[in-house]
Amino acid sequence: MLVNLKDLSLEELEALIAGLGKERYRARQIMKWLYGRGASSFEEMTDLAKELRAELVRTARISSLESLTIERSGDGTRKYLFGLEDGNQVETVLIPDEGRLTLCISTQAGCAMGCRFCLTGAGGFARDLTSGEILDQIVVVTRGLGPDERISNCVLMGMGEPLANYDSVTKALGIMASDLGFGLSRRRITLSTVGLIPQMKRLVAERVPCRLAISLNASTQKVRSYLMPIGSRYPLSALLAACRALPLPPRERITFEYVLIQGVNDSEGDARGLTQILRGIRCKMNLIPLNECPGIAFRRPQEKAVLRFQKVLMEAGYTTIIRESRGGAISAACGQLQGRIRGS
Ligand code: SF4
Repeated sequence: MLVNLKDLSLEELEALIAGLGKERYRARQIMKWLYGRGASSFEEMTDLAKELRAELVRTARISSLESLTIERSGDGTRKYLFGLEDGNQVETVLIPDEGRLTLCISTQAGCAMGCRFCLTGAGGFARDLTSGEILDQIVVVTRGLGPDERISNCVLMGMGEPLANYDSVTKALGIMASDLGFGLSRRRITLSTVGLIPQMKRLVAERVPCRLAISLNASTQKVRSYLMPIGSRYPLSALLAACRALPLPPRERITFEYVLIQGVNDSEGDARGLTQILRGIRCKMNLIPLNECPGIAFRRPQEKAVLRFQKVLMEAGYTTIIRESRGGAISAACGQLQGRIRGS
């Protein structure tokens, strides 16, 4: 079987090239073609000798995603539906905001985490994406951008739990941050997790280039494990203890995301509870009023309740931003991504 070059790290690509009896530095040239210039064939790689290109055609391939639909919302958000080679589909969302162009990337086809407020979770899990499929979302979206547009930030908050697909995700993150890849600084890459504690520790210890966001959504064990089944496997107290102990780089803070749901986790008491349990953790809060959608039984809180919640946190000294998810009109907002997984 032909090896997909986008599934290889720089070291793996160097080994492949060395195995063909060629100079290892050719791997760097190839990487620039794959990501910087979005090459889709070996013929385009004109600074490689013809002989090497012919050798590559025999041993390797360059993957791409099939762009099935692109929907545009009035606020400028674009939602891409991509077809994978095995028939699964994933969604990727491009969000323009205050001079930034943020790409929200999927890391799995479906998701096994089953968070109750999320449509992706309700659709079940098909499989992990390969690192090539994760990176191809950036490559294909970039190809369609205007001359003045450039993706400035990537967030791993699309379909799937990134840390449940650790090896492929961290390999892709290395290429996103590399000058041979997309050259994004770690400040511009955010990985969001439900809180898989062992993988979180590993991510920070291995200095994987990304910032960490944790989907928290409750101030008590009872409510958290009701909303997020993972809360039973990794209790809230253990998650918070792990956060306190993470050796974060200086001045870096964890972002806690909190989907506000009417009558479930949006009371003033919940906010006060949060100010207690987050003590001693370098963090900031993102509040996300629920995006209501068919298939999800919960309601979005009144704006008054959202502002009251924010006020309690701010008065306790926590930087707290209300994130209005973009792209609600095209079901591209947080928790609304579905794609289609085989068999569903
Ligand atoms: S919120 Fe994230 S982790 Fe939870 S089910 Fe949805 S996609 Fe999976």
